[in-house]
Amino acid sequence: MDEAWTEEIGKEDAGELMERELQIWSLFPEMRGQKLSRDVRLEPVLDLELCEGIPVLRFPGLSQCDFIEHLITTRAGGVSTGMFSTMNFTRSLGDDPENVKENYRRVAKAMHCRYGDMVGTRQTHTTNIRRVTAKDKGNGIALRDAYHDVDGLVTNVPGIALACYGADCVPLLFVDTWGHAIGVAHSGWRGTAGNMAGKMVRRMEEEFGTDPADLRVAIGPSICQSCYEVDQNVADVFLELLGDCREELEAVRRTRRYRMMRENGLRKPVEPGKEAGKYQLDLWLVNWILLIRAGVSPEQVEVTDLCTCHNPGILFSHRASKGKRGGFGAFLKIREGV
Ligand SMILES: [Zn+2]
Repeated sequence: MDEAWTEEIGKEDAGELMERELQIWSLFPEMRGQKLSRDVRLEPVLDLELCEGIPVLRFPGLSQCDFIEHLITTRAGGVSTGMFSTMNFTRSLGDDPENVKENYRRVAKAMHCRYGDMVGTRQTHTTNIRRVTAKDKGNGIALRDAYHDVDGLVTNVPGIALACYGADCVPLLFVDTWGHAIGVAHSGWRGTAGNMAGKMVRRMEEEFGTDPADLRVAIGPSICQSCYEVDQNVADVFLELLGDCREELEAVRRTRRYRMMRENGLRKPVEPGKEAGKYQLDLWLVNWILLIRAGVSPEQVEVTDLCTCHNPGILFSHRASKGKRGGFGAFLKIREGV
């Protein structure tokens, strides 16, 4: 850590950051000497904890909701090898099914749930959402995936751990703090363009009577704007989807979290690219805007600052690995007996 940086953020904050970085370097030796995120933060946007022997990322705000448990896995703590090393949950890219099963078993232990009670889906970049009930237990994990083209899951059944997966795409976690219902969604550019975030909010309203004002939502580790270059046709889709979003951007700018993450002024969700005809897309910001439009309070949205593509040693990244990769998981459940 250089001295100027230490001085800038103050000794106490630097001490905390140093401690956190040392902890991370001990888990990911290849990251030694590298800063975890692009910007200096005054408090962690994600906590890194060891849980039942595996390193997991958690959102501090969601951790405060005592009726749920959640975690996001890293690449460490599993048994897969090679490009799937080590905590991979993707089955379709050639990993040994027994290794994937063992990875799930380890996460089940960390989530304090049964392996057979976890529910996942083979994600296909849709905005289809499925309500999960007790009879769905095991779908896509202990049992064959009986769903078709489902990228979002919602439930109010305690004990079921919902799973979604990422390797640059955005994992979204939803918690209805009043109605005790939850949801997870996989939202890459196609899902985001289809307003997966807003559709999840609507579906929770319909299924559980969720009031969007009671929702806490976390936008998980995924590709950052600087790494995510897209073509004109994709940029156009988002410019049309967002239209005039000055009001929502103002709301984002006023949040404490945004001030923590972005010290260099407000960037727009679609910025000109590094070369002509290319654009840089901020999926975190787009999802934040879509959530505000769906009625979620801007302050109730927790946004990651951890980019998969900047940190391929910590998280799987499709772009950084040119497709030779596994997938990490985001898991969320309602505790039993609360
Ligand atoms: Zn990045």
